[in-house]
Formats: sequence, structure tokens, C-alpha cells
Amino acid sequence: MTLFPVPAFSDNYIWVLHDGQRALVVDPGEASGVMAWLAQHRLTLDTILITHHHADHVGGVAALRDATGARVIGPAHEPMPEPLERVGAGEVVKALGLNFEVIEVPGHTSGHIAYFCAEVDGAPLLFCGDTLFSAGCGRLFEGTPAQMLDSLSRLAALPGTTRVCCTHEYTLSNLRFARAVEPGNAELSAYAERCQRLRERNLPTLPSSIELEKQINPFLRAHVPAVEQSARAHDPHSSPGPLGVFTALRAWKNTYQ
Ligand code: ZN
Ligand code: FE
Repeated sequence: MTLFPVPAFSDNYIWVLHDGQRALVVDPGEASGVMAWLAQHRLTLDTILITHHHADHVGGVAALRDATGARVIGPAHEPMPEPLERVGAGEVVKALGLNFEVIEVPGHTSGHIAYFCAEVDGAPLLFCGDTLFSAGCGRLFEGTPAQMLDSLSRLAALPGTTRVCCTHEYTLSNLRFARAVEPGNAELSAYAERCQRLRERNLPTLPSSIELEKQINPFLRAHVPAVEQSARAHDPHSSPGPLGVFTALRAWKNTYQ
């Protein structure tokens, strides 16, 4: 199987997974770029997976479905471009001979889902939309900090080798914030340098991995004393414990330049 991020808009990726003949795509915010890519690689579009309702994730769905007849799968509890098959927690989507488990991850939107496949060519794979980003997480448009922390905890519990396919190339700007939170984290500094070099060559920093994110992503590290101290220093009124720390970090990031 081949995994490739087709760039779209200014910083989206439309992930394509294919077996040389049939392809699935995730969150096609627009159709023309991904159609051209599929044609260039002589692929038939089999399945479209959708994580949540934002336009930069669903804008190309109708055009792709009409042009290819691909089946469309999306979250049970979000407004969606009908018709489609709706799926919820624990359901399994079969596509390209693989099983994708649906994980409900509310927070960025209230019905956001992620798709987890336990094995694709020897390693697990996660399509997590705008929930988990490398070194960051999605903004809370419809959910509470408690929901998002719970969603992220479920993703963090997946196997460390899981390849994390996020929908945005936000890594460098997330890393600026992460380093402000944890200036003493050596793994974070080393990762920031690797990502800087990739972006200088216009290469994606993704997929990331669960193992790596647990070492460098402040939003998966609310329980770490250095992260707690930093959140506390920024907002002395934040509540104690991981939820208080997470809430303070998310609010701090929203205004961080
Ligand atoms: Zn979104
Ligand atoms: Fe998005």
C-alpha cells in the first residue's frame, strides 16, 4: 500500500492510500487536485473517508463522488454532504481489504471521528482530521476542553508505532508554541530542527507517530511537571490537574504569536 499526502489550499493535506489500482482519500476539501493526482497514477477512487463537517474537509466530496461513484463514509453526528454512510464509535469500515475502526473524538467539532487501522504493511495507521496535529491539537470550535482531552487521551493510547496522518501542515507554528511551553525538552528541539529542514525543501513533516507526539506535543503532556509549571506560570489562576493544565494551554495557544 502507498500513502501520500496530496496538498490542497494553503496547508491542507488530502491523504491518499492506494494499492496500485484502487484508492481511498480522506477529507477531500477540494476535488480537482486530487482528481488530477489519481489520474496521473491511474487509480480508481474506491472510498472517501470524512472526519468532520468543515468545508476544507468536505468541499470536494460531491464532485469526487459524482465523477467516480466512490462510496462516501462520514461521522454519524455531523451535517454532511448526503448521500453517505454514517458511522460511529467502535464501528468498522472495510475499505481496500483493510479494517478501519471508528473512534469518536469530539472537541474540534462535536461529532468529529478518526479512523484507525491496526495494520497496513506492518504498522498501524490513523487518520485523525483536525483533532491531533503534530505538536498541537485542533481548536475547540464545538467541544469542551474536557472532551478534547479525553479524545486526545484515546488517541495517545494507540500503539506508539501508529502513523499519524493529520489534515494540516501546522507543525512549524505548533513547534514554536511547544518550545515556549517546554524549552528544556531536548527531543522537542531536535524534532523542530528536523521539521525545519523538511519544510525548507517543501517536504511534509507528516505522518508523525504516537510515540513521537507523546514526547513532544504539549497537549499530550498536560501531566508532565514541566508543562504544568509553564501553564501555571502563564495563567496562575488555572485549575490544578491535567484538565486545568490542558485548558490553560489551549487558551494560551489561541493567543500565541
Ligand atoms: Zn476543521
Ligand atoms: Fe481543517
